[in-house]
Amino acid sequence: MRVTLPRYYHDFRCLAGACPHTCCAGWEVVLDQDTARYYQSLPGPLGEELRGVMVLEEGEWCLPLAGERCPFLDREGLCRIHRALGEAATSVTCRSHPRFVEEYGSRGQVALAISCPEAARLLLEEPGPLTFLEEDGEETEELDPWDCRARDALWTAWETAQGVLAGEEPLAVRLAMVLVLAGQLQSPLAAGDWEAMEETCALWRRRDFPAAFEDYLAQRPPAAPADLGAVAGFLSTLEVLEESWPPLLAACESALPHLSREDYAAALGEGAEEYGRLMGYFLSRYFLQAVWDLEVLSKVKLCLGLTAVLGALGAADWRARGETTSAARQDLASRLSREIEHSQENLAALEEYLDHIPTEAWLELAGIPVIVLPGTHIRGEVKSEKRGERPAGAPLAAV
Ligand code: SF4
Repeated sequence: MRVTLPRYYHDFRCLAGACPHTCCAGWEVVLDQDTARYYQSLPGPLGEELRGVMVLEEGEWCLPLAGERCPFLDREGLCRIHRALGEAATSVTCRSHPRFVEEYGSRGQVALAISCPEAARLLLEEPGPLTFLEEDGEETEELDPWDCRARDALWTAWETAQGVLAGEEPLAVRLAMVLVLAGQLQSPLAAGDWEAMEETCALWRRRDFPAAFEDYLAQRPPAAPADLGAVAGFLSTLEVLEESWPPLLAACESALPHLSREDYAAALGEGAEEYGRLMGYFLSRYFLQAVWDLEVLSKVKLCLGLTAVLGALGAADWRARGETTSAARQDLASRLSREIEHSQENLAALEEYLDHIPTEAWLELAGIPVIVLPGTHIRGEVKSEKRGERPAGAPLAAV
């Protein structure tokens, strides 16, 4: 498998005992089968302790938390299993966190989850736009031919979106461009029209296209801007993973009505590009997942929504403290990630909620007039009626 990974990936070093928020607290570790079997047969006091703690939950062995912390985390914030037996004796989850691999047959994307404070720091302190490396990963089974075509078309689209994000236009314009690109790709993707996807991406990769895009920022039919307060309100209905999250969200909700565009600009301060990299990070985690449900527009809305919520949290924090720092933004990104990215239920619910906010509302929020490019239909947001299925007329033999 050929994998894409962020340029700073190999710079990651776990902070271990110096970590301000160890990943060994707040959620319980699910043991892979090999590790569970190893612990079942481990002799000595540590083996006995492990077997005394392990419980079977829905067919999987877990290490339940003891007072919100892994029972094997010592007072210095270090893992007792790692200390006694070495890293290889820890579970796959423990060994790999915060590394996440999304496999798409012979290609894959690797990310460092920003729920980890050190991963968030590396992302936000990365100089310049987010860039990626390619390396060989483990051998995997290739997808069926139709999914391969969808994956390859989406991969080109993902690279195009990352290229747009790395451009020199103001951040709000670049975010809007990625959203519009996804809107243009949605119908051809749902129809399995790979050529149309390729043509669209080629147009967006043209060097003069950003200028052409801005030229079209002319007409502004009335549209209500996306309501970030409502998004924060929706987030407060989701499952809570950390106790400190609801007060943070409530403070943001009550600050939002008092924040003007100028406040947002001041709150962004020197950190505007950090939000561009956050968007790039979210895209690298979720964009390609449209291979499975053909819903690329909803994936981009999810990425944009997460980025916008982080902007709102940052602005609320700026209003409360009168200053903004990268360290504060890193902390907020980690907290949001822990609440949303580490809960499949929360993530899926948020994607569904954000999908109902029209593109025009996001553009209006960003201060970007709704645009209609010749020959495109971004405002219609035509979607596949067959969510998650191959469209009719795309049998395997035909591709
Ligand atoms: S959250 Fe990150 S830095 Fe902290 S202990 Fe876990 S892997 Fe290490």
